[in-house]
Amino acid sequence: MKYPHIEKAVEEITRNRFLENTLSPSLLTDEVGSSLSKKTKAQVAEINNSLNFVFPPSMPRPFNADAIVRARCAAILISKTIDRRLPPRLPHGSAAYNPESWDGNLLEGYVVAHLNAASLPSGAAGAYLAASFWAFATAEERAQAMAARAEAIELCAFGVVAANHAARAMIAGHARNNLDIYSDLMLLWFGSTPGAAEEVKRKLRLTLAGLRTEYICFCYGGDNIRQGTKYKEKGFGQSGVAAVVSTHNKWADVAASNRNRILFGKNFFSSKLTKISLEEEDIKGMLKDSLEMRISRGGAVLHEATHLYARTGDVLMSDAVYLAAGFALPSISGKDRVVAYGPKYCRALAKTDPRSSLDNADTYRLFCEHAKYCRQQGASRI
Ligand SMILES: [Zn+2]
Repeated sequence: MKYPHIEKAVEEITRNRFLENTLSPSLLTDEVGSSLSKKTKAQVAEINNSLNFVFPPSMPRPFNADAIVRARCAAILISKTIDRRLPPRLPHGSAAYNPESWDGNLLEGYVVAHLNAASLPSGAAGAYLAASFWAFATAEERAQAMAARAEAIELCAFGVVAANHAARAMIAGHARNNLDIYSDLMLLWFGSTPGAAEEVKRKLRLTLAGLRTEYICFCYGGDNIRQGTKYKEKGFGQSGVAAVVSTHNKWADVAASNRNRILFGKNFFSSKLTKISLEEEDIKGMLKDSLEMRISRGGAVLHEATHLYARTGDVLMSDAVYLAAGFALPSISGKDRVVAYGPKYCRALAKTDPRSSLDNADTYRLFCEHAKYCRQQGASRI
């Protein structure tokens, strides 16, 4: 189920004529998205339906009737999602704010007042869907994104257990005797650096705490964004990736970016590229030399969450890693140099540059997915 009238309304909120009057329209659309995320499907559908109207045929039609309809659509969406007290009257006039009015000036005044009063969305720990998800995504895509947070938490918990076991095995000396599945996993994905298991445990614990306790914003960058749409959240257009994370380090320009956001790209929603959980063939594939990513949707969120909460990066593979792993070197320009995404490159990184693997987001993702699989299968060795 899609919500075309909500799409029209959020597009209107971010129109240029409003942009002149505010620092950050995305603060307001984020607030709208956060509020919609707390409503039931029936309530959201009702709001969408309430935005479906035309200029009343009984009234004399002004030249700007279409603009009035759009502004009224935006004003009503705001009034039905954000419960903010405004002063009783517009600043320069005697009329009261009224989102249901048919007066263009009153409607604009209403939207602008809310743009100026917008603040960071807040809520209990969890994820909320940004306005882009409500405007463009399907119900299934919304459900997949929300479920992926829970799946990421589960994966991360498996990873913490595995890293903890490996750290203890290291102390007890089992690892040296090569007796332990968790030590196998640690060696495969992070190589042999002293203290690696402790460091992996530390970073995964930070990630787990972040996923469990933070209120995080999910933005939609999938296939259903209408061509030429005016409404975009920051970071749109990253179509080639499963999900993209943006932090305030990257976007320090406006207050709105100072929060945790994950943008879900096209690949995340592709049933060919992601799945709910990795299966036996995927785990076997991880140990072979194919370049397939083999990623679960929870794994995609986990990858991004390690960036946000444990400050991991996407490690660019050095010449040394290329050579040691037997890959052809990238071109002189280096444009085709890859980051360590996917099992083949992450295993090469672990073997030849294990310290860097401790900073590489996709290595953590693979480690957790593999750990979950081994634990659920009761595997004793890889
Ligand atoms: Zn990344």
